[in-house]
Amino acid sequence: SNTFSQHLADEAQTVAMGARLCKYIKDGAVLFLHGDLGAGKTTLSRGIVQGMGHKGKVKSPTYTLVEPYELNEVSIYHFDLYRLGDPEELEYMGIRDYFSPEAICIVEWPEKGRGFIPNPDLNVEMAYDGQHRNITVSATSERGQQIIKQLGQ
Ligand code: ADP
Ligand code: MG
Repeated sequence: SNTFSQHLADEAQTVAMGARLCKYIKDGAVLFLHGDLGAGKTTLSRGIVQGMGHKGKVKSPTYTLVEPYELNEVSIYHFDLYRLGDPEELEYMGIRDYFSPEAICIVEWPEKGRGFIPNPDLNVEMAYDGQHRNITVSATSERGQQIIKQLGQ
């Protein structure tokens, strides 16, 4: 199957999902995170970044567009494009340099940068389910398919 879905009962389960995902993306991946405000995109990102060994805080880079984490195992670049006005700003900040094959790039609100950021390996949909959340991860590349395969095992 090309997709993986799971119910996430509380914030801790969203963080744990991120930590689980991080095991399969150590060689690099581009993740687009979709979902309404408050759906859990940043919480999932925190699970990935801290799961990869970062000890400090993880806050969404709403005003700076990108937060870099240069960790022992891997470089993670966490983007939040919610407040991006003109997608050409992404050209000025040299966005393409972040997207090396061995980096993990996590992008909240990727639709705001359409045409200026590379295609993802995984599309992640965070959705409200009452007081809880559901996650659906879909592969959009060969690399993404390998990740989904391992997630499902
Ligand atoms: P986004 O980045 O999508 O705007 P955030 O991660 O910043 O969302 O905020 C999500 C909010 O929902 C936080 O208050 C967090 O505690 C809560 N939350 C995260 N995951 C769950 C879950 N599985 N069930 C219930 N609440 C959750
Ligand atoms: Mg967010």
